[in-house]
Amino acid sequence: MGRLTLLLFLMTKLTYGFTLNNNIGAAFDKEEVSINVAAHTCANLGITNDELLSLAEEAGELFWNRVHTSSLILKRGALVSVATAFQTGKACTNAPASSCDINSALVVSSDILISCNTEPTNFSNSPSVLGVTVPNNFSGRTINGALILVNDNGSNSFQGLGRQEKVAVLAHEIGHAVGLGHSSLDKNLMYFQSVATRETLGWDDVDGITYLYPVEQPLSGCGTIELQDQGPEKGLLTLIFGLLLALAIGRTWQKSGRAWSTPARNC
Ligand SMILES: [Zn+2]
Repeated sequence: MGRLTLLLFLMTKLTYGFTLNNNIGAAFDKEEVSINVAAHTCANLGITNDELLSLAEEAGELFWNRVHTSSLILKRGALVSVATAFQTGKACTNAPASSCDINSALVVSSDILISCNTEPTNFSNSPSVLGVTVPNNFSGRTINGALILVNDNGSNSFQGLGRQEKVAVLAHEIGHAVGLGHSSLDKNLMYFQSVATRETLGWDDVDGITYLYPVEQPLSGCGTIELQDQGPEKGLLTLIFGLLLALAIGRTWQKSGRAWSTPARNC
């Protein structure tokens, strides 16, 4: 009975995972998504719009574009002129609330838009809330556009962060923009707090982005398993060993901090 209790406890502890930013598993229906920045001047952010665009580009490159099992590619967009509502309006008309009634005045027509914003209720009236993200343009399970608002109120905590901390914060918000929710484990970029100190993705982050944007497998030539001249048990063991070896190599790569790249196809 004691063993059974321990096993159940361990199974419970291991059932964590990524979550999604909506209840329908929505994602962009294209592999290249641009990150644009609103061109208006930010009052209290301490950086220019062009610097904000560069930080966002770096966030995509350093975090999400390195997952070789994900097909998503985040690209530097442009500075774009948008309505004043993006600078001063509410992202959700019912904010603050756990669910969001999308403000139609702030709907993003396509891709990801980052805008500094001074409406305090977007940030729960707190300077320590760095940003809020709402995918706010959907067609069924497809995200057409997503909005990231950065807290531009006086005494906001974003302006005091170091450069890499700002990159990590933007990478977290971009994760929400492409469809991810929070992870329950603090080793992940998508954990709900202390994200500024993250330097790499965690396993929940990798699993989540791979789930939403899987790399398609080739249809011919690859993926066949040759069992000739092997008993069924030996063949199965080889397959399992190969799978474990592949997993071990993948984990070593990530722990060493190396960039992941798509391996050459030998089939
Ligand atoms: Zn978050």
